[in-house]
Parts: sequence; structure tokens; C-alpha cells
Amino acid sequence: MDTEEFRVRGKEMVDYICTYMSTLSSRRVSPSVEPGYLRAALPSEAPEHPEDWDDVMKDVENKIMPGVTHWQHPQFHAYFPAGNAYPSILGDMLSAGIGCIGFSWAASPACTELEIIMLDWMGKAIGLPPAFLALEEGSKGGGVIEGSASESVLVSMLAARAAAIKRLKHQFPTVDEGLLLSKLIAYCSKEAHSCVEKAAMICFVKLRILQPDDHGSLRGETLKESMEEDEQAGLVPFFVSTTLGTTSGCSFDKLPEIGLVVRKYPSVWLHVDAAYAGGAFLCPEHKYHLAGVEYADSFNTNPNKFMLTSFDCSLLWVTNRYLLTSALVVDPLYLQHCYDHTAIDYRHWGVALSRRFRSLKLWFMLRSYGISGLQKYVRRHCELAKYFENLVKKDERFEVCNDVKLGLVCFRLICGPDETPKQKDDLNKKLLTNINASGKIHMVPAYVQDKYVIRFCVVSQHATREDIETAWDVITDFATELLEGPDK
Ligand code: PLP
Repeated sequence: MDTEEFRVRGKEMVDYICTYMSTLSSRRVSPSVEPGYLRAALPSEAPEHPEDWDDVMKDVENKIMPGVTHWQHPQFHAYFPAGNAYPSILGDMLSAGIGCIGFSWAASPACTELEIIMLDWMGKAIGLPPAFLALEEGSKGGGVIEGSASESVLVSMLAARAAAIKRLKHQFPTVDEGLLLSKLIAYCSKEAHSCVEKAAMICFVKLRILQPDDHGSLRGETLKESMEEDEQAGLVPFFVSTTLGTTSGCSFDKLPEIGLVVRKYPSVWLHVDAAYAGGAFLCPEHKYHLAGVEYADSFNTNPNKFMLTSFDCSLLWVTNRYLLTSALVVDPLYLQHCYDHTAIDYRHWGVALSRRFRSLKLWFMLRSYGISGLQKYVRRHCELAKYFENLVKKDERFEVCNDVKLGLVCFRLICGPDETPKQKDDLNKKLLTNINASGKIHMVPAYVQDKYVIRFCVVSQHATREDIETAWDVITDFATELLEGPDK
């Protein structure tokens, strides 16, 4: 494809995307294909000779689209939102067009500098303390764009682990590092995302998973007791991962309590994962959730979840960037440059060396929407979740199972008093299976307080009350069929 053809095909692609977006509701929200469907539809080998672009695009529509789950569909209510507002799509397009690989300042100065500035803009906008910002006078902090919240949690744990081993090695110089590693223990709540468990697996450290309270919040006292117990058993607490806005039920750990506990252990690293909820902190009325963040060493949020920005865009801030980079620095000659002692080189802030110009999309988003535009979006989602919660509450066959604070409602059929917990779970599983099989709306389950619940998340960028009512009609129709139909 030469430049002139790209000019034409690029414009056609924008048209294809616009038509896709504006006709989404005419498609099934989730596909009805079986595993392996595509293998049967595509040749078993790559083409020997170039093919016509029109033929490629025909196959997109006829072969790929039937297997796509439409996350931007108005009736997609699973997981959390996957942002893809147009300015961020344009940012990704420009990033691909420029095609620079900004692993160090010298590899593409604008790529690094825009990222530093965007992380400071975002940190200020959501209300992080100045210690997390790179451009504050005397600050050791700063932020970086990682590919995912999982990576953000992992690199935070890697930094904490490196600092802990260094400290222990200083204390016990003759003890083997492997033995020191075997003493380290991290903590999170049962409600934390599974990426914390994965990070602990990769870091090869113990993880103690703690019981939250009845609202799904990890409490300071629970953490304190566990840390004391582990210390008495000869273990070394080194990392605590907390969550603001958990995946299952959007609950919030009690950060002020946890912070006070962790403060008594100056060498324990406190991380805050606000992958979804961070977007809400743009709004003054949600900032109270951030209380206690002043105790944290690192904080992550994903604008690609609740800030309309397309994947991938997970923001990670630390209060001491030197602890992060000292865990991750390798420095071959071919990557060095004459400013590497003064400039930020993001290759030392994550696992990958190569990095895309991801800050462009964030910049485009912030300039196109302004903070006020993003606040408006967050508020509409929260309001629609409340609207859905009220619909659930009005139907006595159902119960709401979480504290609805942002855009997520967890609910389930109540069932009769004689049914066992397993029968109740099974009935709700059946309801969700039937609904999802219809392709009319799409939701996923979770366990909240050990109960199987159905998660209803407000996801679509332009969600309306009518969309919520349509979803509720589908849910109640299937519930009626299940409770009163011939197969009941
Ligand atoms: N943390 C929380 C609270 C999440 O909700 C999720 C995903 O939904 C993650 C971490 C993992 O996110 P990612 O897919 O960016 O790794």
C-alpha cells in the first residue's frame, strides 16, 4: 500500500468505524459462534501473493465480525467500560503513524515529555497528593503509562520486593537472597483483582489474602492482626495492595485505616489499585474515596476503563521513582544517551523496553473533553446505575447485592426461604446463562459476599435511560420465564 492508497483506504476505514458505531445496536451484542469457528473460515496458510484490500475488508465483515463481542454496544453490560472515544482513537492512529518507540528520552523526546506532563495533569485532576507528581519542586515522584493495571501492580510489587531484599541484605549480609525472598509476604483482600495474585506468583513471594468486612472493604484491624501474626512467625511483610473500586462489587478498602497500620511499618510498600474507580475521582463528589492515599507509595488507574480512553492506558504513579527504577534498570551501551542522568527514561519504569506514544491519546482526550466533559460522562454513568438499582429494588423477586457507588450494580433473584445457597446460586446462573445466550444483552457474574451475583455495569459511552430500561425488560422477561415457565 503506497501513501496515496493509504490516504483513500484510511478515509474508508474511518467511514467503516463510524458506520460500525452508529449501527451497533442492529447487531447481536455477543456472538453465537463456537470455539474454532474462524479456523474453518480462513485458509490454513498465509497468502503467497498480495490480495486486494476490498477482499480483506469483505472478510472483516463476513468472517471477523460474526465472532466479535461488541463492547461498545448499548446492551453490553459486562466487566467494566472499555473506553474508545473518537479523540483517543485518533491519538492511537497518530501514534501508529508516527511509529516512534519512545523507550528513552533520546529515543523520542516528545514521547517522554508529553507522558510526564500528562501524568502530572491527570494526577492533579484526580486529586493525588503532590508527592506523586514529577514536576513538583523537589519531588521524587512521578507517573508512567503502563499497558494494564496488572502491569502497574506487578511493577509496584517488583519495586517493593527489590527494596525489601536490599534492606534485608544490608541487615543480614551473609544470608542468601533466596532465603530472604522466601520470608517476604504481601497482603490483599479477597476482593482484590486476581492480578495481585498473579504479580505475587511472578515475584515468587507469599501472598496472604484477607477477609473483607460485610461491605467488601478490607479493614485496618484485619491487616494489622495478620501482619503481626506473620511477623511472629518469622515472615517479613513488604507489600500491601488495596483496591478502590473492586472488580466484583465496586467496594472500597478502608484506606485511612490501612494507611495508619502500614505507617507503623516504614519499609512496607502500600499500593492502591483504582483501575476502574479512578475515573470517578475527577468529580469532587467522589474524591472522598481517596482519603488515605497520602499513605500510599503507588497508585494506578486505567483511563481505558472509566475515562473514555482507548486501551491500552493504565496510569501508575509512585512517590519514589528511584525505588521503581532501581528494581528495573539494565543499561546496555546501545540504550544510553548523554541526558540519561537528568532525563526520565521510561524503559526503567516497566517490563517492556519498547513503548508506543500512548500519551498522545490522553492529551487528545483531555483537550477535547476537558475535565468537565469527563465529569459529565462519569456522572451520567453513576446516575444510570442508580436508576437501574431502583428498578431492581422495585421488583420484589430481586435483591441488590452491593453498595452502588459508581456505575456497577450487582443483583440476583432472591428465591424462596427453603432453597439452599447452592440452589439460589444455580437459579441465578441459569438466569444469566439464558440471558447471555439470547445475545440481547451481555453481563458477567461474580461472587459478592460468597453469593453468586449478576453484575450489571453501565458501559456504553452514550448510555441512556432507554438502554437501561431495555436491559431491565430483557432481564425481567427471562426471570418470569424461569420462575413461571414450563421448565421451572
Ligand atoms: N484491578 C481492578 C480493580 C480491575 O477491575 C481490573 C480489571 O477489570 C484489573 C485490576 C486488571 O486490569 P487490566 O486488564 O488492565 O490488567
